[in-house]
Parts: sequence; C-alpha cells; structure tokens
Amino acid sequence: MGPFLSFARLLLRSPAQLALALLFATISAAGLGAGLLSLEPVLDLIIGDGGAGLAEMARQYNAKVPWIGIPDALVERLPDGRFDSVLVVLGGLAVLTVIGATANFLHQYLALSLCTRVVARVRLDAFRHAIRLPLGDIVRRGPAEFTSRIIRDSAELHAGLVALTSRTAAQLTKGAAAFLAAIFFDWRVVVVAAITGPLLAIILRKSGKRIRRGTRGALRQQEVLLRVASESLQGLKAIKTSTAEGAMLGRFKAANREVVVEELRARTARSLAGPLVESIGILVVIALAALAVREIIRGSMTFDQFVLSLGSLAVAAGSIRPLTGLVADMQGASAPAQRLREILELPTEELRDRSRPRLARHRHWIRVEDVSFTYPGGTSKALDGVSLELRHGEHVAIVGPNGCGKSTLLATLVRLVVPDSGRVLMDGADIHTMQLPSLRQQIGFVTQESIIVRGTVAANISLGVPGATRAAIVEAARRAHAEGFIMALAGGLDAEVSEQGASLSGGQRQRLAIARALLRDPSILLLDEATSQIDSESELQIAQAIAEFGRERTVIAVAHRLSTMLAADRIVVMDKGRVVDTGMHEELLSRCDVYGRLVRGQMLTTPA
Ligand code: ADP
Repeated sequence: MGPFLSFARLLLRSPAQLALALLFATISAAGLGAGLLSLEPVLDLIIGDGGAGLAEMARQYNAKVPWIGIPDALVERLPDGRFDSVLVVLGGLAVLTVIGATANFLHQYLALSLCTRVVARVRLDAFRHAIRLPLGDIVRRGPAEFTSRIIRDSAELHAGLVALTSRTAAQLTKGAAAFLAAIFFDWRVVVVAAITGPLLAIILRKSGKRIRRGTRGALRQQEVLLRVASESLQGLKAIKTSTAEGAMLGRFKAANREVVVEELRARTARSLAGPLVESIGILVVIALAALAVREIIRGSMTFDQFVLSLGSLAVAAGSIRPLTGLVADMQGASAPAQRLREILELPTEELRDRSRPRLARHRHWIRVEDVSFTYPGGTSKALDGVSLELRHGEHVAIVGPNGCGKSTLLATLVRLVVPDSGRVLMDGADIHTMQLPSLRQQIGFVTQESIIVRGTVAANISLGVPGATRAAIVEAARRAHAEGFIMALAGGLDAEVSEQGASLSGGQRQRLAIARALLRDPSILLLDEATSQIDSESELQIAQAIAEFGRERTVIAVAHRLSTMLAADRIVVMDKGRVVDTGMHEELLSRCDVYGRLVRGQMLTTPA
C-alpha cells in the first residue's frame, strides 16, 4: 500500500477540505448512532410496562446518570403522554435523518472533489515529467506505456482515493457509531469484537496481496493492449494495404486474453473476501445469540437490551462489510500508484537547470570532437569517433547509406542523444554543460515526419513559440513557401488540420515544419530530408525556402537528393558511424567509393 499512501498523502495538502469532509462523515455517523440510541426510549414507550412518558423517563435518567444530565428546562417541556412522547422521539429521528443525510452529502461532495483535484494534479505532474524525460527513455519503453500510465493508472488511483476518503471514511465512522451504540446497550459485545477484529484484518490482508499482484499484471497487459491498438489504428493505412488486419487482430486477441487472465486472478480474491467476512459475521451473531439467551434466562440481561445490542451490532457489521471491497479498491490502486511513481522518479532532462550558464547565440563555429555513441541495447556504435567542424553560416549536406548514423549525429547536436565519449562545442562552449533550453531555442529542426497537432494551421506554425504575432506567422509561412497552399485551404491560416496532418501532403507538412522552424529565428537549422512523399514542385519550393532562410545561419542537412547536395557548401560522407570523406560533389565522385556507390546506386534522387 506504500505507493498508494504516498499519493493519498497529497490529500493532506488541502487540510481544511479534508478535515471538513471527515467532520461531515462523523456528523453523519453520529446521526446514525443517535438514531440507534433513540430506539431504546421508543421501545420503552411502546412495550415498556411503566407507562411513563418522556418527561418521566428523562427525570429517571437524570437521577441515574447525574454527570451528563438533561437540562431541567428541557425536561419541563417534554410531553407526559405515551403517544405524544413517541411522536416527539420519531420527530427527532426524522430531524436526525435529514441532518445525517445532509452531512453525508457534504462529506461525499467534498471528498469526491478533493480526489478529483488530487488525481488531476498527479496526471499533470506525470505528463509534465514524462515530456521532460530524455527521448531515449520514452523510445525504449514505448510511448504507449507512458500514455497508459498517465491516463489509465491515474484513473485507478482515483478509484482508490475515492474508496479511501469517501466510502471507507463513511463506512468506518458509521460502523464505529453503531458499535458504540451496541456497547452502550451491552458492553459485552466488546469482547466479541476483540476476537473477530484481528481475524477480519488477516483475511483483508491476505486477499489484498493477491489483488495487488493481479492488478499489477493486468495493468502491464493493458499496456500491451493499448500499444497494439494504437499501432494498428495509427498505421491503419499501411495495415489495410498490406492486408495485415488479421495479424493485428491476432495480436490484439492475444493481449486481450492475457488481460483477462490477469484480471481473473484478482477476481477470485476480490469475490472471496466479501462472503468470508460475511460468514464470520453471521457465525459471531449465532454465538452471541447463544450467550445472550443464557444471560436472559439467568435474568442478567433484558430482552430489548439484547435485541437493541444485536441490532446495533448488525448495523455496525453492515457498515464494515463493504470495507472488504473498499480495501480491495485501495489495494488495486497500489499497483498503478507504484507505476506512476516509477515515471515520476525517472530523472528528467535538466530543463530547469538555472545554475548552468546560458549558451550564447551561435555566431562562429560548431565543432564535433571525436564523438562516439552506442544506443542502449545496440550491438555496434551508431557514431564511432566522429569529428567535424563547421563555420557559422556554412551549409553542409550529410550523406551516407541507411543506418550509417546521420540522424544520430543530428540528434547529438540538439542533445537528444548524449555521446558516450567526445564533445560537441559551440563557439567554445561544450553544449552538454550549458542550459538545455538555450541550446534548443536557437535550433530549428525539420524532421522527416513533422509533428502536426490538431488545431489551426497558425497554431501549428507557432507551436513552441508562444506569443508569436500573427504578422510573424504570416511572414514565416510566406518564407517557407507555404503561403500558397495555406491560402487555398478553407479558412487559410485558421483552417483546422487533422491529427498527424492527415489532410496535408508530405511536402505541405514539411513546409509547415519549415515555417515553424523559421518562426524561431534559429541560428542553426537541422534538416532531415524526407526520402519520399515529396513531389518535385514541393521539393523545389522547399529547396528555395531553405536557401533563402539559410542565409546567415548554419545549415546541416541529412541529404537524400542530389539537388540538396549540390546546393551545399560542403558534403560530408558517412559510413558505419564514421565520417569517411568531406568535399564537393566532383571531387568526392572521383575519390570516395562510398559516395560513388551512393550516387550510382541511385540512392540519391534528382528532382524531376
Ligand atoms: P541513418 O540516419 O544514417 O539512417 P541512424 O542514425 O538512424 O542512421 O542509425 C544509426 C544506427 O543506430 C543504426 O544501426 C540504427 O539501427 C541504430 N539506431 C538508431 N536508432 C536507434 C534506437 N533508438 N535504438 C537502438 N538503435 C538505434
């Protein structure tokens, strides 16, 4: 329960609301207790033999229990007649019921809003944390796992917190009130509680352990389920065209089966706890009845005392019974709590590291010094002693066969990847010792698959540049050669684009990404050139946009097209994680094998 309790502790951050909620729970329970206690005078009035009214009973009570007496002024106003007295008591009960119900409502209302807010905060914290984790962490575990934890696990946590603050608090206080009433009627019931209490605790504990294990397994399998579902639906186009529906269905079925297996595991413990506790309760009542009958026969207990005590005990047991389910809910919330904790405990990128110096705007040179890097779990080096120097304003094209480390090199420059050895210097400063935002804010990175979020075209362009003016957005779109197609959309800049930009062509998406990069006014532009999907018209416009926009900026482009290479000041050829040659097209053609093979092998395409 540790991780669950660590989140439950967040409830304490709103102490007033929590205390008020518990206070109302207590008032509601006290209403129940008082109601039970009032049954004694009612029974007395109805079946008692004295024929005394409430006033007389109050006087007798005052004589018997002088230390908490009923004020005389009140006693004087109580009725003498039996029927009137019953009416007064029943009226009192009605008032108690209304007060109890109101307090109950206020308790639930406060507790539910408290839990909802706490969980919203946990969700926000988890998302904020996840989005600041190093990219590698997310890639390694898979985005679906994080999504599942942030959305699903927090919902489970919510169920646990509600069980704790709303229902458990209500049932416990009610149980305690009814139990106190039972003690009032006959203290001997305490003995019974002393025997059954620990027994119930053991059962709850044992079942809790199983439930925790089952929930943990179920959540793990649900993650797989979520991944399969999102993989299938996001890549639906490819799945349909490769007629892989059956295969994906098979995967989903297998994962679904596993979820069922895990959930059923906890189901046994969940369903067993209730009946067990119930049977124990009934057995206890049977034993009690036997004892009581003996006492009544002996004359040391009256029948109505016995009935009231047993009745109160039954009410107490009735209130405690749902606790088994509630404890199960809380145990069930322990696994998701643990998984949320795990996210929150992963170290983030040092986005807020104010103690490091800010990196000044790049204006001289960038030097990659003997950088090597192997992906976690990778068998060979993705970068193997790469060294490279670029002047400010230079345009460099990086070419090489697939998997030679081009993207990894770009990732190193933005600190998406931290080299195992070697350094990246920018105007003399090691970028890894500087504030991360000061590096990334001056880099425009246009990736092959540009991210498009649901929203307007303008919102997509200004993503990451809060406070960009409309005029700046228009200018960025114009300079990215994106204005034409944007204006053709119904709504222009205010047109809504669908998720992942499905309504846009590859070239259009890339020009939006360029506009976005442009709006940042970067000193360095990193471009991972798309290998396909771009029509020659788009390609020409993209090339023009880059050429214009790249003036006075350092441009590093992973190039797949000859046009990009020819436009560059210098071409860097990579192979197997290494830089094998650097130069211009003609000289490389004549002396570099890898380059020659690339060009001849038509891995590089020319514009049509
Ligand atoms: P390129 O961009 O030249 O095609 P990459 O830089 O993407 O090459 O990849 C270089 C090498 O690193 C490849 O062998 C690739 O398989 C490996 N690699 C790339 N990304 C990962 C990753 N996230 N985890 C493990 N290996 C990776």
